[in-house]
Amino acid sequence: MTIQKTFFCPQCGTRLSGKKACRNCGFDVHSEDAYHGISALGAGGVGWSDAVNDPRFAGYQSNKRKYIGLFTIVLVLAIIAFLVISGDLSLDGEGMIVILVLSGMFVMIALYAMFSTKRKGKEWTAKVIDKHLEDGKTLRSHIIFQTDRGLKHSLIFDDRVHYDYYAIGDVVKQHNKPHLRTLEKYDKRKDEILFCPSCAYLCDARDHYCQACGSPLLKGK
Ligand SMILES: [Zn+2]
Ligand SMILES: [Zn+2]
Repeated sequence: MTIQKTFFCPQCGTRLSGKKACRNCGFDVHSEDAYHGISALGAGGVGWSDAVNDPRFAGYQSNKRKYIGLFTIVLVLAIIAFLVISGDLSLDGEGMIVILVLSGMFVMIALYAMFSTKRKGKEWTAKVIDKHLEDGKTLRSHIIFQTDRGLKHSLIFDDRVHYDYYAIGDVVKQHNKPHLRTLEKYDKRKDEILFCPSCAYLCDARDHYCQACGSPLLKGK
């Protein structure tokens, strides 16, 4: 089950206030018939999206870095406070070294996580050549792609939605930009859903922006 996150207008990307309709375009995501009977099937369009260079993707990654930084500071302070209160750590010379080493470790992990939001890798186009479901403790989708150059990529997703989403023969592109690392399917007309390129939220194919994070969705024409 996914939790419904409605923070942004899925039609124009404006931040929503409470359960009200969008103040910019009037779209009401909470309404029963928000899309006025229009089918989600086919709404994703066909072709590579030109939204990949949208500055909103950089905004999402920059927010992510801020959250990582803030989370790390709070976590380190909480651990130190806990150790001092429980009596396992005293604020003398030895205690200060422990605090320094501990903080240093967390800062390194945080810096690595922040840096990886800026990393850029290879871009490739591929075809889905195989897929299977792993029915273990958690249901996993294995999707196998073969690139134009003959290289094989295998991706694993911890759900079955991706298994249903990718069909053998589907053509996909791995976008590898500094602010965006996502797969885009060339022909989205057979799907009623789209994955958010920033936060992977499951979106309606009729939407243009992710209602969870406000990033643009990659759609065809
Ligand atoms: Zn709107
Ligand atoms: Zn999103």
